Amino acid sequence: MVSAPPAVQAPFSVPARARAGKRLSIVAPCFNEQEVLDLFFARIEEELAKLGLDYEIVCVNDGSRDHTLAVLLAHHQRNPRIKVINLARNFGKETALSAGLDVTTGDMVVPIDVDLQDPPELIGQFVEAWEAGADVAYGVRVDRRADTPLKRFTAQGFYRAFNRLSDVDLPYNAGDFRLMDKRVVEVLRKLPERNRFMKGLFAWVGFRQEAIPYARPERAAGTSSWRYWKLWNFALDGITSFSTAPIRVWSYVGLIAGVLAVGVAGLLVLRTLLFGRDVPGYPSLMVVILMSFGLQMLAIGSLGEYVARIYQEVKGRPLYVVMDRYGFDDAPPFAGG
Ligand code: UDP
Ligand code: MG
Repeated sequence: MVSAPPAVQAPFSVPARARAGKRLSIVAPCFNEQEVLDLFFARIEEELAKLGLDYEIVCVNDGSRDHTLAVLLAHHQRNPRIKVINLARNFGKETALSAGLDVTTGDMVVPIDVDLQDPPELIGQFVEAWEAGADVAYGVRVDRRADTPLKRFTAQGFYRAFNRLSDVDLPYNAGDFRLMDKRVVEVLRKLPERNRFMKGLFAWVGFRQEAIPYARPERAAGTSSWRYWKLWNFALDGITSFSTAPIRVWSYVGLIAGVLAVGVAGLLVLRTLLFGRDVPGYPSLMVVILMSFGLQMLAIGSLGEYVARIYQEVKGRPLYVVMDRYGFDDAPPFAGG
């Protein structure tokens, strides 16, 4: 019997992978999520059972102030494939995610929000994309109806600014919800920076990436812990870690201002010589002084944003501190990153 020739995939042909015998790691950062966890585990375990993969669910308790840890441990008792990392305090979602990624053992890794805004049904499609050769399959939100108009507007502005200013392109409306091959996760683990802007890092690593569209539902329970001030700082982190444009632009602003100033000075001298001294130009003087003061403050401020981040990196503190681990074979590390 003659076997059919392998199908050629454009634009490149990659060896097809098979899921048999492979393990999937789910990473779920949890911050004050006691209400939603039961529902989350019910949904995700149902999906995982369909996939025909071995799996583990690594839950990172990010310093929750409610009974999240107790609920997680109850689930760990019930299903030992649910593992729990308890961080020593709230380190923020990005860091909690890193803590989880650092301990995964799967051939594929999927970070997911526990509020069910990342629909677990999509994981099946991610795995199919992985089998077809994608190293990263990421969810893209086709509509942001669940968000307020202000959030949609600011998100749009952020993506536009980020992509204009930095060398890596953030895909619009892609979150952390994705499936990554083991080797992509290896690269992420090796990145030394303390400042974990995961969206940017995910895009920075490259590899064969494939977008999978989905509609993002509303939070199943509880409230989002992201407020606008936090989102603004998140955006600043993103832009400063992936672009040096805001700090470099000041040389050009200064240069243009300097050239203009010389021109204006020349005109003024000429005018004084030709027509003599006229009415003192108080308003124009004030305008120039205030404007240059504003520009200088902006320039110093943008320097500060970078210097502060250099300071963070130079201190070289561990990214996070692990207090306890449940369901892992090896001894708990004191800290990681
Ligand atoms: N989260 C976390 N640490 C934090 C804030 C959030 O681990 O300091 C987790 C949270 O439990 C959830 C995910 O990050 O699983 C997304 O958080 P949220 O739903 O509040 O964000 P949004 O959906 O509004 O982006
Ligand atoms: Mg959410």
